[in-house]
Amino acid sequence: MDLEDTLLMMPGPVPVAPRVLRAMSKPMINHRGAEFAAMYDDCCEILADVFKTKNDIFIISGSGTAAMEAAVGCTIGKEDDVVTLENGKFGERFKDITARYGKVNPLENEWGHSFDLDEVEKKLEEGAKAITLVHNETSVGIQNPAKEIGRLAKEHDALFIMDGVTTIGGDDVRTDNWGVDIAVVGSQKCMAAPPGLSMISVSNRAFEAMEDKENLPYYLDLKAYRKSGGKSQTPYTPAVPLFFGLQEALHIVKEEGMDSRIDRHAKCAEAVRAAADAMEIDMFPQLNDRYSNYSNTVTAMKAPEGISGNDIKKDMLKRGITIAGGQSHLSGKIFRIGSMGNVQPKDILLTIQELEIVLKKREFISELGTGVEAASEVLDSLL
Ligand code: PLP
Repeated sequence: MDLEDTLLMMPGPVPVAPRVLRAMSKPMINHRGAEFAAMYDDCCEILADVFKTKNDIFIISGSGTAAMEAAVGCTIGKEDDVVTLENGKFGERFKDITARYGKVNPLENEWGHSFDLDEVEKKLEEGAKAITLVHNETSVGIQNPAKEIGRLAKEHDALFIMDGVTTIGGDDVRTDNWGVDIAVVGSQKCMAAPPGLSMISVSNRAFEAMEDKENLPYYLDLKAYRKSGGKSQTPYTPAVPLFFGLQEALHIVKEEGMDSRIDRHAKCAEAVRAAADAMEIDMFPQLNDRYSNYSNTVTAMKAPEGISGNDIKKDMLKRGITIAGGQSHLSGKIFRIGSMGNVQPKDILLTIQELEIVLKKREFISELGTGVEAASEVLDSLL
């Protein structure tokens, strides 16, 4: 199948607009010149609105994990205790990164299960320099309660380090309001830019934590990013074509407006859930508290009895749509539909229509149309 005919409905990378692709084919420029500086400032200005922050923002040539490592590596030392919250693959990754730099005091939930805030508070009471949270746990389709965790972090004087990789740019994220000291995002998710860049916001409190820290990472030294940022540059040669793409993608974000973008993301995910419900497919996340939610950017569903999630993924690919399966021990047990970036109602409806055909062929449903109808009812308000 021609790659250009394939619809990416996975939780990143997501399709990028033709104007973003065109922007990336521009001739190279001097990364220490005025043209780059103007592009850098333009990106940071739009990002401040997207992150909802007055904190410094930096753009790293490296994927989301690079920004996660910058956050932890610059603030956490060998003797520092850090509460790491895990209910999926990326919470586990934050824990593993943190363990390389400091002492982890992990709260490990079964993947897909919401956190009990009393348990989080108990962990913080044991004393913590910082707490890490994945706002949207992409691997299981759960939105964790960032605002409430931010409040607990503040009460216990812990730095709040948040992975907003699959929320910032598509979901309601309030960096300053929630007291997020460091927030990170990847370019290939809600912002619908190509993969390879990550963006990070850093509070003054987080910079203070770097003052007495020995052995800051070299490439990911946020103090070096701050120094160069003052000149509208990056410390080392940036991935210039990706910056061209990011700038164009951010202009699309700005033209749409964050409120409309957030609404569109929420409705698209709600439509997938409505379709699943109509087809009697169960959601994977277990929401046991009133603060957690189903994700607004990726829907994780249990594979129906007797059908592997991987087979659903393969059948969908044959029909021209790339969805995601489960990661690690969830492989085969779940399947995930991403609905982030510039995703439109027609993309959701096509995906649900093909999913119905796949599930009918595998004799899980007996008639076509119920999922599409349920989804379209939700999506109609976007038209
Ligand atoms: N955090 C979350 C929540 C993610 O979904 C991902 C990637 O899917 C990452 C971190 C890692 O980002 P990257 O693959 O860009 O390094």
